[in-house]
Amino acid sequence: MSAPPRRARLAGLLAHPLLPWLVGLAAVALAVLAAGRLAERAALADLRRTAAGTLALHVAALRSEMQKQGSLPLALATDPEITAAVAEGPDPALLARVSGRLAEIAEASGAAVIYVIRRDGTTVAASNAGRPGSFVGESYAFRPYFRQALEEGSGRQFALGTVSGRPGLYLSRRVAGAGGAGAVVVKVEFDAIEAAWRAGGETVFAADPRGIVLVASEPGWRLRALRPIAADERQRIRERLEFGAAPLDPLPLHPLASGGGLTRVAGGTDPARLFLHLDAPLPGTEWRLHALTRVGVAVTRERSQAQAIAGLLAGLLVLGAARLLGRRRRLRAHLAEAAARHAELEARVRERTQALTDANGQLRAEIAERRRAEAERQRLGRELAHAGRLAALGQFAASMAHEINQPLAAIRSYADNAAVLIQRERLAEAAENFSAIGRLTERIAGLTRQLKGFARRASGRREPVSLAAVIRSSLEVVEVRLPGVALALTVPEPAPYVVGDGPRLEQVVVNLLQNALDAVAGRPEPRIAVAVATLGEKAVLEVGDNGGGLPEAAGQVFDAFFTTKTDGLGLGLAISRGIVEECGGTIAAASGPEGGALFRIELPLAASAEAAA
Ligand code: ADP
Repeated sequence: MSAPPRRARLAGLLAHPLLPWLVGLAAVALAVLAAGRLAERAALADLRRTAAGTLALHVAALRSEMQKQGSLPLALATDPEITAAVAEGPDPALLARVSGRLAEIAEASGAAVIYVIRRDGTTVAASNAGRPGSFVGESYAFRPYFRQALEEGSGRQFALGTVSGRPGLYLSRRVAGAGGAGAVVVKVEFDAIEAAWRAGGETVFAADPRGIVLVASEPGWRLRALRPIAADERQRIRERLEFGAAPLDPLPLHPLASGGGLTRVAGGTDPARLFLHLDAPLPGTEWRLHALTRVGVAVTRERSQAQAIAGLLAGLLVLGAARLLGRRRRLRAHLAEAAARHAELEARVRERTQALTDANGQLRAEIAERRRAEAERQRLGRELAHAGRLAALGQFAASMAHEINQPLAAIRSYADNAAVLIQRERLAEAAENFSAIGRLTERIAGLTRQLKGFARRASGRREPVSLAAVIRSSLEVVEVRLPGVALALTVPEPAPYVVGDGPRLEQVVVNLLQNALDAVAGRPEPRIAVAVATLGEKAVLEVGDNGGGLPEAAGQVFDAFFTTKTDGLGLGLAISRGIVEECGGTIAAASGPEGGALFRIELPLAASAEAAA
């Protein structure tokens, strides 16, 4: 449960605007620290090299001093006067002479004291004879260097002088004379060297294998110990009178835990100072020479310089990185914005494309619907025309039956008459009757022809048709209803030809004539006018009457099943318009100049070549 909030908190912390600065600050601090440490290490290495060089010089100086002094006992051991001095019962004058010579040699060589000891340990001659603190007459039988000289030929010991109380290195050599044996001893004191060390401002000291400081630039450090001395060892030293009552306290050195030879010196004038502690063996002895070099200012300066430089560089780097990061962030934001704008644009284009596609689809659907509706309308129109024709056929059938019955009755009477006239041999009159019969049958044939044409479906036939012929045939169809009606026929000579289906155009004109006859039926002075004219590329055919005029809903007369008559079907004008339009023309209804109705048909003229054909 706590995981998502913790992660969210972590993400929040990571996105904190101060975080990069904190990281930069940490990086700078780290760089300063590391540079300080590195510089310190390099400076220390430098210091160590210098200090090692100095230490080597000190070793060489001390060694040459000791060598110079060390050669004295060897030279003196074979001196005839000295060998004589260790004999039993020596001549006091000889001893005085030897002492005098020793004093000269000591003066010249810088040795503290030179003296000769007899076998029993008594000093017989010394460079300091006759002066206060003279060794002459003193017994040194207890001194290890004396016993070593007697037993091994030579000896050496660092010790405090029992008479002088001054520390020094005792170098002894056996003296073998004719009348006895003894030793010649040179005591070397290091005051001059110590003074030179002090003058050089350095802390230098020599320590024996036990770690006891024998020679030191700091006077207070003499006869102190590098390491704690065990109680029994301390006892032994005391018994041999090596270092008198010196407490052999430890030196005030505190090596650092980090090692590397660094140590602090406590109790000095500057207790907190850090020193580099180096040591080297002193050849020809068991001693080691130690030097403490001040770490001090040089290292600190190097460190702070390096830290300053590192801090500056790291700061610059962090600033550079910050600028780079800022630029990258701005660039990323810019890119994101551009991408968003691009995406938005694309979305808008997609939207727009979709809208266009939709609109296009809708348009296509509408076009398809329109076509379908148009096809349906045409099909319905054809159906209607056919139905109308059939209906009209039914209507006509009744009048046809009547119309045909009349010529049939006439034919019958003409035939009866002809039979009687033939019986009476009035052949010319009989022939007249027969020809009348012929004309009548012709008329009947015409009637049935119209009937057949009427019932035909749309033919799609388009041929040049003379409007004069169309009008003639139409009038023939309605001939029976014409008596009593004034017919005004205006057809120019030659009559114009139109392109279409002759019988069907006839059907149109018949229909207009029937309607006009219906309109003028029962009217005083009924009149019907049929006129043909040419107007530009078109032929115009008008059928007018002086009937009651168009009904109130004049705009609906071309609608199918619109009729104002009790026995009307309302199909005639609808079919007529279909046929006219099929032939590429128009039909319109208007009020005539004499108050009746005027129907006007316009049809395209047939080309003259077609007309001629
Ligand atoms: P119907 O003759 O069977 O009524 P039509 O389509 O031929 O069908 O005519 C539709 C209607 O148009 C008629 O009922 C009539 O009202 C009107 N009409 C047609 N011709 C004329 C005309 N010459 N004068 C007045 N009205 C007419």
